[in-house]
Amino acid sequence: MKRWNGWGRTDYEYHFADSSKAFVEKNVGKGEIIPDATLESVLKKVPKSRLPDHALYTSDAESRVRHARGQSSPDWIAMRYGTVDHFPDAVAMPAQKEDIETILNLAKKEHFNIIPYGGGTSVVGHINVENNDSPTLIMDLSAYNRLLHLDEISNTATFGAGVRGPDMEDALKRHGFRFGHYPQSHEFSTLGGWIASRSVGTQCYYYGRIEQLFLGGLMHTPQGNLEMLPFSASAAGPDLRQFALGSEGRMGIISEATVRISPIPEFEHFYAIFYPDWASGFAALHEMVQSRLDVSMLRLLDKFETETTLQLSGKDKLVNLADKGLRLIGMGEERCMMLFGITGTSAGARATLHQMQHVAHRYHGFLEKSFVGKMWFASRFTTPYLRNNLWECGFAMDTLESVFPWSKIAAVKDEVETALFNGLQDENERLIVFSHLSHMYTDGASLYVTYLFRRTADADQTLARWKKLKKAASEVIVKNHGTISHQHGVGMDHRPYLPLEKGVLGMQSIRNFYSTFDPQGLMNPGKLYKDGDNDSRKSNS
Ligand SMILES: Cc1cc2nc3c(=O)[nH]c(=O)nc-3n(C[C@H](O)[C@H](O)[C@H](O)COP(=O)(O)OP(=O)(O)OC[C@H]3O[C@@H](n4cnc5c(N)ncnc54)[C@H](O)[C@@H]3O)c2cc1C
Repeated sequence: MKRWNGWGRTDYEYHFADSSKAFVEKNVGKGEIIPDATLESVLKKVPKSRLPDHALYTSDAESRVRHARGQSSPDWIAMRYGTVDHFPDAVAMPAQKEDIETILNLAKKEHFNIIPYGGGTSVVGHINVENNDSPTLIMDLSAYNRLLHLDEISNTATFGAGVRGPDMEDALKRHGFRFGHYPQSHEFSTLGGWIASRSVGTQCYYYGRIEQLFLGGLMHTPQGNLEMLPFSASAAGPDLRQFALGSEGRMGIISEATVRISPIPEFEHFYAIFYPDWASGFAALHEMVQSRLDVSMLRLLDKFETETTLQLSGKDKLVNLADKGLRLIGMGEERCMMLFGITGTSAGARATLHQMQHVAHRYHGFLEKSFVGKMWFASRFTTPYLRNNLWECGFAMDTLESVFPWSKIAAVKDEVETALFNGLQDENERLIVFSHLSHMYTDGASLYVTYLFRRTADADQTLARWKKLKKAASEVIVKNHGTISHQHGVGMDHRPYLPLEKGVLGMQSIRNFYSTFDPQGLMNPGKLYKDGDNDSRKSNS
């Protein structure tokens, strides 16, 4: 069963070793053990629903609590301290398109809001009820999740948009295919959510980014249905799929999506290369990307992330052994780890591995072929469970991300990290901050920063700490002309920064476009932009 107030299933726990806890405490101080609010206490806060009873949705308090928040830091604070105060009035789980349309028509007639909901894994406040003025219904698509059509010749598949990552892969595997979109939230996030929030998977160089994978589909809007035909390519004017991508529930509900799929590859393996320091790892990475080496995944961890990854892996003996071995070959305190994957044919993989090794060698890199990459692969979807352990020991963890040109990224990385390190100086609080470059382009790379700080028994104080840190880092990002999000989307948390990159006219066109489909403003209000806000205060034009 899915947890109601944290990450993941209730029957899985990450192994958090004493040494891992000691490592965190050494860096930020001892954590305070603060009991979570109980589900019963939160259930008592759920007010009477303002929606009339209907067979297509439930107003049951537990369903409303379980759909109230996502996975952002403010969401965790609200749910785990029990300070959550806005709840949806009802939850619908339509299993057919007709039910989606019936509910949409009802919303128009009764004037209630609808929040489309995939897996609720948003980390930026995409699915929260922000304003309690009008009743809100969560439309959870998880029951509309089946493989509807497979074209084994053209390598395309049509799915109900509520399908979760593992179920999608299982359905395709039976026919010898793979979708290959692997965000770290894969266990719970859904096809509709990936499209609506423009998510990015780890192996996107081989399988494609969501905007390359999404061919077309069906969007139910308050003004009617929009069918986006699955053309391989089209020059027939603007591409409406681009408006569905990143629509964050404002335009309508995606019920079905046709996507590109790949035959299960003959070969797939993950590797690590250790470099003596950041400068050599960075130079090697740059050369590998500019040479367009055929990897499916590529990332470079800085020395703090390299160290923290090893320390929090819970595998003390192996880590000590690896540490000794690496030191013997000159990889000391400054060492940085590169992780990469190769997917495709065995012959192609041999050639790519050889090329990667060749570049790495020139920058004094050491290729580790058998253990670290395998360990990364095995734990790629379980690492998020560590956030539960850290929280229970008194620590909050969050991430943020952007993308910058190669010429700027190293300097901006330092600036963002410094802003976070110093972000709680006024409270004498220390932080753990580390980064990796996660997705590469020939013109730039995405920066993914993780930070960890102590929470207190006071929910408001913990939230205030997060706000301070988020603001400090976001300001550095926008000051350096980075996008406010490379992959997590806008939701409510990034909303204040969006006008800086889109400008007044840009924001107006987004508002106007979505209001064509939803003139009453019923769909997911407050996400991307605040209704009624004129954006001028934050504009760049
Ligand atoms: C541990 C963890 C790891 C993560 N790793 C990654 C990562 O590697 N890459 C990445 O890009 N993101 C990542 N995320 C963020 C998140 O998983 C993505 O944003 C994901 O795309 C959200 O999908 P979801 O199905 O959970 O959507 P939700 O969170 O339920 O919704 C997200 C938005 O999409 C809208 N929406 C959902 N379904 C539909 C639909 N059918 N029709 C219309 N609108 C819809 C919602 O209204 C909302 O605005 C991570 C999050 C967590 C908690």
